[in-house]
Amino acid sequence: MEDSALVVFSGGQDSTTCLFWAKKNFKRVVALCFTYGQKHVKEVEIARAIAEHAGVDFHLLDATFIGTLGTSSLTDSSLVMDQEKPADSFPNTFVPGRNLFFLSIAAVFAREQSIRNIITGVSQTDFSGYPDCRDTFIRSANVTINLAMGEQFIIHTPLMWINKEQTWALADQLGVLDLVRTKTLTCYNGIVGDGCGKCPACKLRKAGLDHYLANKNKEND
Ligand code: ZN
Repeated sequence: MEDSALVVFSGGQDSTTCLFWAKKNFKRVVALCFTYGQKHVKEVEIARAIAEHAGVDFHLLDATFIGTLGTSSLTDSSLVMDQEKPADSFPNTFVPGRNLFFLSIAAVFAREQSIRNIITGVSQTDFSGYPDCRDTFIRSANVTINLAMGEQFIIHTPLMWINKEQTWALADQLGVLDLVRTKTLTCYNGIVGDGCGKCPACKLRKAGLDHYLANKNKEND
């Protein structure tokens, strides 16, 4: 078993699943959470509570400059959130540069703690098509960060090639299906657990869960 890992952690479905994946694969796990100017600041308290429950060290860093630098409906209340993915682009819930900043900051933070494994819950199968969730970006960022610091970090992306249904299956395998379902915050309207049911994040999360539970019940019949 590898020694230690840092999880870029938001308290949502994906990063919470990654947190428990990390606990299974590493002796010591540290959760790093960011404020980036998100409208729903209670996200941070939810993340802290999950980390505490998981028995993982929780650290919070202020990166609110990210939200003020670029435009996103997740950080600007005056913008109406895109409900659909535009045909030729990604929705305005995209936060420009977020994952690049997060990974760079996480690597410096990890280095100070002698941690070389960094875990992020990004997924290429995410329907939104955010460029900084793609595998090519992560590989490129990994190389750049290693060159920038003369280190050999490994960025792990356990969810990169799996969809939401498979992410629920992974949470179930890790024994945290109920925890992820009831304690995490994915909803763009800031409602914990099953959420508002109407925003794009809730719809994606619910469709995955419904599929997973339906197939699981079929297998058990
Ligand atoms: Zn919602």
